[in-house]
Amino acid sequence: MAVSAIEAGKQRARAAVRAAAGELVRVSREIHGHPELALNERHAVAQLVPFLEAHGFERVEVGAFGLETAFRGVWGHGPVTIAICAEYDALPEIGHACGHNLIATAGVGAAIGLIAAIDPAEARVVILGTPAEEHYGGKVMMLARGAFQDVDVAMMAHPMPVDFADPPMLGVAHVDVVYRGRAVHASVAPEQGVNALDAVVTAYQAVAQLRQHIRRDARLHGIITHGGAAANIVPDYAAATFYVRAQQPEYLRELKRRVQGCFEAGASATGCALTVDWHEDLEYAPLRSNRPLAEAYRRNGEALGRQFVDLKNVSTGSTDMGNVSQAVPAIHPTFGVGQMIFNHTPEFTAAAITDAAHESMLQAAEALAMTGVDIARDPDLVRRIKADFAGG
Ligand SMILES: [Zn+2]
Ligand SMILES: [Zn+2]
Repeated sequence: MAVSAIEAGKQRARAAVRAAAGELVRVSREIHGHPELALNERHAVAQLVPFLEAHGFERVEVGAFGLETAFRGVWGHGPVTIAICAEYDALPEIGHACGHNLIATAGVGAAIGLIAAIDPAEARVVILGTPAEEHYGGKVMMLARGAFQDVDVAMMAHPMPVDFADPPMLGVAHVDVVYRGRAVHASVAPEQGVNALDAVVTAYQAVAQLRQHIRRDARLHGIITHGGAAANIVPDYAAATFYVRAQQPEYLRELKRRVQGCFEAGASATGCALTVDWHEDLEYAPLRSNRPLAEAYRRNGEALGRQFVDLKNVSTGSTDMGNVSQAVPAIHPTFGVGQMIFNHTPEFTAAAITDAAHESMLQAAEALAMTGVDIARDPDLVRRIKADFAGG
């Protein structure tokens, strides 16, 4: 299709996002003001679904793929299927410190911008409400249940301190460890006790020592969740939870083996029984950004005046979009919120409803919608996206 048709489509997409800007900001504020934890995001869904239905998505299915707070809307019947993901879960105690209110509105804004810009015969647009990113891995479950089966390309955008077209997001394994010993009076008969707290402390120290000697593109961190009931009872139950993160899948596997060794050290030092649950079905894979797709998004963002950073050795987090990106061509670009502050802090919670963050969110929605127009109207881009994905 002629360049002018692509450009005209992008103008229409941008105009549709801007026309809905007031509603998008209102929905963002509403979600931010009612933070809901993973799989409980009912208020967020109640804001997003009516917005989509008012802007061209007929009958959005709530409770999609067996998850009460997931949703799916489908528009059009063209030869290429473009999925846009919207996240909306918050964090315990610090609310929307990851700015998922902005992901949600960037996602639904992009979806309504895209369908306003193209003909239903040009593409199929799927908006997916994907709950529980911070915990459980909603997209991992949705992927396993077929949500991305008929999808050619999946996209979303995430707020961060700065704009990355292809952020280096790490794979992550979540592990719960439990030690069981024998409770006795800590003063009357300590020689008969088997101390589960000692076991978990030994394991924690071993992980802390390992942490100094791992590659810079990996992370180990955790907390002790149970350490006993009273100082005068030898604890017979102690537990901890850790995250093991790495950029390379092979290195993630190696680190998991070494961390398992740290857990076993706690058990053998104390004589406690050890239970380890690696939750392998909910592991987050490293993000594999599709290069031609990330480049298209970047060009569109730059056309809007956004500036992207190219740093490779930066510390980032993880995302359940990683699993999606291993299954279908995908991008998970980031957009700055206007301040150099990090996600998962109270400061980020405050930043996630500023005017600057909302302007960035609207631009991310525009850039995603514009990239959708590229996919719908440029068969050569789709060919290059698929070749990049097939090339590994
Ligand atoms: Zn987060
Ligand atoms: Zn997040």
